[in-house]
Amino acid sequence: MMAQRNRVVFVGAGGAGLTAAFHVARRAPDAEITLFSKDPVVAYSQCGMPFVLDGKIDGFDRLIIYGPEVFKGLGLDVRTSTPVADIDLDGRAVVTAGGERVGYDRLVIATGSKPFIPPVPGADLPGVMALITLEDGRSLGERIGRTKDVVIVGGGPIGLETAPAFLDAGAKVTIIERMPWLMPSALDPEMAAVVQARLEQMGARVITGKGLDAINGSGAVESVSCAGETIPADLVLLSAGVRPNVDLAKKSGIDTGVTGGIVVDEYFRVRRNGEYLDDVLAAGDCAEVKSAVTGRPIICAVGSVANRQAAYVGDYLVGKKKPYPSVLCPAVCVIGGLHVGSVGLTARGCEQAGITAVSFKAKGLTRARYYPGGKPIEIKLFADGERLVGGQVIGEEGVHGRVNVLSLAIGKRMTPADLAAAETCYAPPVSPLIDPLTYAAEMLALKCARAQAVKGPREDAKTPF
Ligand SMILES: Cc1cc2nc3c(=O)[nH]c(=O)nc-3n(C[C@H](O)[C@H](O)[C@H](O)COP(=O)(O)OP(=O)(O)OC[C@H]3O[C@@H](n4cnc5c(N)ncnc54)[C@H](O)[C@@H]3O)c2cc1C
Repeated sequence: MMAQRNRVVFVGAGGAGLTAAFHVARRAPDAEITLFSKDPVVAYSQCGMPFVLDGKIDGFDRLIIYGPEVFKGLGLDVRTSTPVADIDLDGRAVVTAGGERVGYDRLVIATGSKPFIPPVPGADLPGVMALITLEDGRSLGERIGRTKDVVIVGGGPIGLETAPAFLDAGAKVTIIERMPWLMPSALDPEMAAVVQARLEQMGARVITGKGLDAINGSGAVESVSCAGETIPADLVLLSAGVRPNVDLAKKSGIDTGVTGGIVVDEYFRVRRNGEYLDDVLAAGDCAEVKSAVTGRPIICAVGSVANRQAAYVGDYLVGKKKPYPSVLCPAVCVIGGLHVGSVGLTARGCEQAGITAVSFKAKGLTRARYYPGGKPIEIKLFADGERLVGGQVIGEEGVHGRVNVLSLAIGKRMTPADLAAAETCYAPPVSPLIDPLTYAAEMLALKCARAQAVKGPREDAKTPF
């Protein structure tokens, strides 16, 4: 009897696809694994690109984590510069843009995201760029020092992380955000004001509450129009968020959801005509997952989460099926030395989810008051009256650790009082005696208790974990 083949095909070899492929290769030596990437280079860190541009990392090649010898060692067939043009779900095969048909027993779609392109005239002019792939990074890198006027469209983290590179190189940088504050998906207005102040201090001009009307130029970008003003630009960087890259999935009849991402169940199985398919999964930026706070569908386009999802996908593919819980989407970015972190819901997110939130904003220091070099840190926490549902942390140090603690606390359904009661460590050079997060949680617990005393117990305030 012929042994059954175990052909696993991945469309996408980024944070989700490649990590899941490694997981399978290490656990199922019989698997015949093929990965397709439309890009010429795989296994690099997208997250590091802004810091190559600002000179902190010495060149884009430093971002490449694994080379072909690693793939070979694991028996992976990685096909770079090979876009997949079609998926034949009934025939269990993918078809490359070059017309090659490759059969699969199991398929993983991990096609990532694409930049949101504002629907304005001129958006396709040369000089309008995004920062998603390594090639994008290299192209932007070539322009640093040669570009006089940069307009960053959208106040999302990618553009804001990149702005200092252009400012340091002497360019004029204008950031245009349609919403009244920067990073509106992650921050509340008063927290975003800290980020805006830092960028302005570095020399950027920040325009909020006004949209881009057009990108102008004959042959290449020369300026942008914004609320009646013409702003010179020889480079426009798109930073108005990303959208799940689902063109291929949609074309093959796979269902997408309210967020625009691929609908998946708790095992990352995709859905076609309302039915989940056992042999086709999707994960990473392109998949729609469930918010751990609201239970609603969300897209969580961060690398740490894509990596975590990859482990579940990998386990499924080696027969160790376990349900993926839901996401809190903790994120941190670094903008001109300012660490900006968030997890769970913002004030706007609470409002959209119908949660009447109680919040508290604390200001503290990252070291003991008397210890030199302490940095201010601002923390804003949200509770639904009972449990923690979100938090934002901004400072020049000590941010990511506190976001991770918050992520754990929210994920474990803690109340602000639970978090305030958690024991914390202390040494003057690294923390004050009472951690600013503990203080913020304690104050929020008091506010929640007061709100409850005034209004009585709030059944409606419970989060649907
Ligand atoms: C500039 C930048 C900075 C970032 N910084 C951070 C950070 O600091 N922290 C953080 O957590 N996250 C960060 N992220 C987000 C993080 O990189 C992504 O969330 C993560 O890479 C998502 O993994 P993925 O596998 O879903 O998609 P990707 O890693 O983008 O991989 C998508 C893959 O799909 C392939 N593909 C797409 N369509 C096709 C097709 N038709 N045929 C063949 N192949 C196809 C692509 O070639 C690619 O290999 C950053 C992203 C960017 C762009």
